Amino acid sequence: MTLNILDIIRGTTVDGPGFRTSIYMAGCSHRCPGCHNTESHDPQGGVPMTIDEIMRVVEEEDFDVTLTGGDPLMHPEETALLARRIHECGHTVWLYTGYTLEEIMADKRLREALRYVDVIVDGPYVEALRNTDLRFRGSENQRILYLDKASLFPESSGEEQQDSI
Ligand code: SF4
Repeated sequence: MTLNILDIIRGTTVDGPGFRTSIYMAGCSHRCPGCHNTESHDPQGGVPMTIDEIMRVVEEEDFDVTLTGGDPLMHPEETALLARRIHECGHTVWLYTGYTLEEIMADKRLREALRYVDVIVDGPYVEALRNTDLRFRGSENQRILYLDKASLFPESSGEEQQDSI
């Protein structure tokens, strides 16, 4: 299983709290007017890397991780596996997406990709709502959402609890 990776930046402080490893995945179809990252839209951009290769970079640091792009939810199965592997190493996961949480909740594949994600920054970039004072976001419609797994995955909340014992 591979992902096309545009960049992996270690020790960044702009994609979530603290020092983080940010993984930039290629591919985004939201086409937000005013997007500052148009070179990330091509899903064939960047360099193909296996999940193992990405994890080797992640494990070189003791940082929590941010998945961004592009939009990681353009590749929900690969993103789900990567987030799981990162969690298994003891790191939390932030994920940036152009989808809103409501859109994600309405799509089983997208929702499943969040099973091992702790926080999402959701929604498209809206040029008219641009605000450079916002932390970790570009426009005021975007939200930083700490995910409540029990409400996101009510069908398996017992299983999640067992995992955490
Ligand atoms: S979701 Fe992000 S990368 Fe995709 S078009 Fe919108 S601003 Fe650009």
